[in-house]
Amino acid sequence: MDFEISERMKIITNMIDEFVDKELIPLEPEFLTRSFRDLLPVLEEKRAAVKKMELWAPNHPREYGGMGLNLVDHALVSESLGRTPIGHYVFGCQAPDAGNIEILYLYGTDEQKEKYLRPLVEGKIRSCFSMTEVDLAGSNPVMMDTTAVKDGDDYVINGQKWYTSSSDGAEFAIVMAKTNPEARPHLQASMIIVPCHTPGFNHVRNIPVMGEAGTDYTGHGEILYQSCRVPRKNLLGPEGHGFVIAQERLGPGRIHHCMRWLGICKRCFDLMCSRASERIITLDGKTLATRQIIQAWIAECAAEISAARLMTLNAAWKIETLGGKEAREDISLIKFFVAGVMQKVVDRALQVHGGLGMTDDIIIPYFYRHERAARIYDGADEVHKIAVARRILRGYEGRRVH
Ligand SMILES: Cc1cc2nc3c(=O)[nH]c(=O)nc-3n(C[C@H](O)[C@H](O)[C@H](O)COP(=O)(O)OP(=O)(O)OC[C@H]3O[C@@H](n4cnc5c(N)ncnc54)[C@H](O)[C@@H]3O)c2cc1C
Repeated sequence: MDFEISERMKIITNMIDEFVDKELIPLEPEFLTRSFRDLLPVLEEKRAAVKKMELWAPNHPREYGGMGLNLVDHALVSESLGRTPIGHYVFGCQAPDAGNIEILYLYGTDEQKEKYLRPLVEGKIRSCFSMTEVDLAGSNPVMMDTTAVKDGDDYVINGQKWYTSSSDGAEFAIVMAKTNPEARPHLQASMIIVPCHTPGFNHVRNIPVMGEAGTDYTGHGEILYQSCRVPRKNLLGPEGHGFVIAQERLGPGRIHHCMRWLGICKRCFDLMCSRASERIITLDGKTLATRQIIQAWIAECAAEISAARLMTLNAAWKIETLGGKEAREDISLIKFFVAGVMQKVVDRALQVHGGLGMTDDIIIPYFYRHERAARIYDGADEVHKIAVARRILRGYEGRRVH
């Protein structure tokens, strides 16, 4: 087993770490106190600098202007960028665009690629992914009310979605809607590209999430599709294959998320250790770091981060070498395990900071608020645990172990 990181990736991640430290972390006080939309001009400058350094769109295809890194290498990049909430955006590999780019690349027609994929990779436009519905359990998305009915050369879409992340200011949405209600449940829905300026695409609001509605890229939209008409050529992939394509989107996406969460762990762990080492808690000058309970937290966090990291890189390697299907169990394992490790590390880092840990003078509470969702999106913890346990238990059916 070879754990060696290539010289090229060492250079790339060092460059990214330096950029994050010097150019992005200093922007965080503004990020925490102003709207994302206000920050766009300065973020655009940073994006231009990243392009100049030839580090733009690390995971996206070379032919469209990306670096074309494989999944394992991009996992390392995602970890470095995850240390700040603006990292992925500034380097052009943010969700949900990253997932949309993957499926447009795999399933898009030549026309769709030129119109949507190319400007998306170049960072000229943004997109969103619109599947979850307000009134139905997103954990079982085959229960879907949104319909896309054929009418001449068009589809007419009706339905109500929410958590269409980053819809505010996006150029287009990839919408999941039922096109084939007579088919088996997993073959009823299709993916359709819907430009956000289409009449009938109604952006109702950015949902307030943990006290913040967000703007532009940081918003999570509620969308009402009312007789929203788009040409049938906007169908992405085969009709009725929406869930099949969605599966493709989720495997690598979970690796990106998990490594981003590990970047968050690293940042919070560094802050925790630094604070513990300097915070004096006794009259004779002893620091928090002298206390065994804090030392135990630090050791436990270090072990769990390391375990989570190895599991994630292993899952990335499996996807890369054996394919997504073979790696399904590993993907489910990391999805709930890494999300849990991150929540624990963020919580302990916050605790070590005491009252300061509750203020937006530091980044930890931002992670605490916004990353709670990691245990819900892309499959809630429970759904992944059930899937893994079922697969494991299948191996024991009719087999007694002595
Ligand atoms: C920050 C954020 C961003 C998101 N971005 C997007 C996006 O860009 N596009 C999009 O389409 N959606 C997005 N989502 C929606 C997300 O995919 C759904 O919230 C998720 O699929 C869960 O669906 P639900 O909210 O309807 O919860 P439900 O399906 O109602 O589930 C509620 C809870 O029930 C439990 N549960 C569910 N099923 C089972 C089961 N079988 N067994 C045991 N327990 C179970 C879990 O604890 C789960 O958290 C986002 C969500 C969040 C929070």
